[in-house]
Amino acid sequence: MECPKGLLRLPDNIIAEILKYSLSYATLFNTILASKAINRVFRAHPRSILHVVNYTEIGPSFPLSLRRLRYKAPVLDHENANSLLAQAVSSDVVSDPPMTMEERKEIRGMEDKVMQLENLFSFRYLDRRSVTSKFTPDESWRFRRALHHITLYTLEFPLSRYPYVDEKDRGTMNELHQQVAQEKQRRVTFLSGLGAEEMLEISAVLFFLEELGIYVFSHTSLYRHGLRALLVAAGPEVMLACHYTMSDIPLLERIPDLERMASYHPLLEWYIWGPLLKILQDREIKADADSDDFPWSFISNRITEANAHCHRCKDHLLFDVWTQTTWTPLALQYRRAGRAVRAYSTIDMILSLKERLNHNGFEHRYLRKFIEEYPGDDYLTKILNDIYDCGLKLEAYASWTKDDLLCEDCFDEFLREHLHIWLRYHINLSEGGSLENSRKDCEYGYRCDFQGEYNTKPKKPSLDDLIQEHQKTFNHLCAPTRQDPQNSRLVIEEYCLANERTLNDLEI
Ligand SMILES: [Zn+2]
Ligand SMILES: [Zn+2]
Repeated sequence: MECPKGLLRLPDNIIAEILKYSLSYATLFNTILASKAINRVFRAHPRSILHVVNYTEIGPSFPLSLRRLRYKAPVLDHENANSLLAQAVSSDVVSDPPMTMEERKEIRGMEDKVMQLENLFSFRYLDRRSVTSKFTPDESWRFRRALHHITLYTLEFPLSRYPYVDEKDRGTMNELHQQVAQEKQRRVTFLSGLGAEEMLEISAVLFFLEELGIYVFSHTSLYRHGLRALLVAAGPEVMLACHYTMSDIPLLERIPDLERMASYHPLLEWYIWGPLLKILQDREIKADADSDDFPWSFISNRITEANAHCHRCKDHLLFDVWTQTTWTPLALQYRRAGRAVRAYSTIDMILSLKERLNHNGFEHRYLRKFIEEYPGDDYLTKILNDIYDCGLKLEAYASWTKDDLLCEDCFDEFLREHLHIWLRYHINLSEGGSLENSRKDCEYGYRCDFQGEYNTKPKKPSLDDLIQEHQKTFNHLCAPTRQDPQNSRLVIEEYCLANERTLNDLEI
């Protein structure tokens, strides 16, 4: 590849500046390889050029990511050091050894997790209709800076540094008390190099991480006193993993001694809020009056209380907000019970069918087939669009719209009340006039007891035979027209008579 002659006539320092404007590593290296002269300029200023290209390619928080990646836990004797965190994050990374390919890969992985946390923050507090961040570059930078500061803090002060001390020994351990006092001072010192703005940003992100954790752990046995500090100490990435798995497994892996830590740790309550609030108080930094209840505005002053509640039940909305722009992304983004399973998987959809319909193997076949054959992964959106757009909504839901912001409970309720109606509609559409389609409605509808697994060839006479026969003969994707209790005995006796069997033949 021939190098452009005009570029070669420029002074070296201008060529170096031009190289810094490369949009990616690939562009930079292609340019360098184009001519020996350009290569020579690069070799004269590799660090400053790479620094700017990294900044462009990875983002403004890349120096903090690099610090974090190269972080080495310091020795304990730091009580007189000045603002270690500030040193750690502000020193000139240009003078450090350039990033290796391996480091760039790791930093990309780290930044990807930071991005996911930013998406969650933006979705939760700024725009509930978008699962990707709507922050401006400035807001994004403030969030990321705070998140990296918190991570560096958790690396510097792991909970495991202090062993668990039995209750009977705590009062007498002068040495421990002394150590704790020194440790408190170290923590203040560590944070004290940060400016007021940075501290307030950290407090906003801490509230976010705690809310994220409490949302996950309110479903588990870990919801208890002391949890707030433990959540922060585990680090933001662990919180993200807990959120995606909706489980405490990542937290237990990071803090194996969690049960005892939660019951007693000399610095648990003082973990990060203690030093942070002390510094803010000493410096007489007051949060804005409006921010006391709404600290997230330190990251973005566009954050308001708008859309904070479910449009239907008025419950406070947290991290699940179901509206037409989030149906597919939320279903694909969420994981359940530690397994990589999408929300509203085939089995979830079957379980979403109303009342006893979720036992009806005969009708399930249609739902399974539709899900398996639907192109792409957004069958949930297709089903909901049909319900809203094709006149399938029940009278009781007439005022509900696709733009409503719904909590998970209301969304589940809507789906449960309409899924069988949609399934009936879908079967009519795809198999119009078929034998199954002409089935008469069972009078007990989705409440009928004679629904079960569907086997095309039952092996021996049993109650299964009756169930297979019944659900094949009658449609159950309908509301009951009879409200009296179903007389199962009568149905079974009639079946025996018609099929020349006795009650003893049936495994009941
Ligand atoms: Zn609701
Ligand atoms: Zn029935």
